[in-house]
Amino acid sequence: MDCLFCRIVSGKVPADLIAEGDRWIAFRDINPQAPTHVLIVPREHVESLSSLDESRAGLGGELLRAAAAVARMDGLEDGYRVVANTGADGGQSVPHLHLHVLGGRPMRWPPG
Ligand code: 5GP
Ligand code: ZN
Repeated sequence: MDCLFCRIVSGKVPADLIAEGDRWIAFRDINPQAPTHVLIVPREHVESLSSLDESRAGLGGELLRAAAAVARMDGLEDGYRVVANTGADGGQSVPHLHLHVLGGRPMRWPPG
């Protein structure tokens, strides 16, 4: 399958990897929207949050814990934002589940 994030997971496309676990990797976004902008990506190809069914019980929790660990690593003690853009209306541009971890500046609400 020709999936950009699968290619990053397998090392075929280079990325600025900052942490990894058994089921996920974390790397810096190529087009950062904040001083910290990290993507948490499952090693397994999962299309979006909508595909996280019973057979993947626990993966969502692992990704969230990874997001919190990355925020700690980058010293975001004043807070941060975790986003999972999902589907067309959610603004998802890469169809492989990922969490954005954004921080290092105040975030606005509502997002665009
Ligand atoms: P989405 O829009 O699907 O929520 O997020 C996809 C993210 O992947 C975007 O923030 C985009 O900047 C990032 N991205 C796209 N291509 C690459 C790449 O080749 N390397 C890295 N590190 N990030 C990428
Ligand atoms: Zn993939």
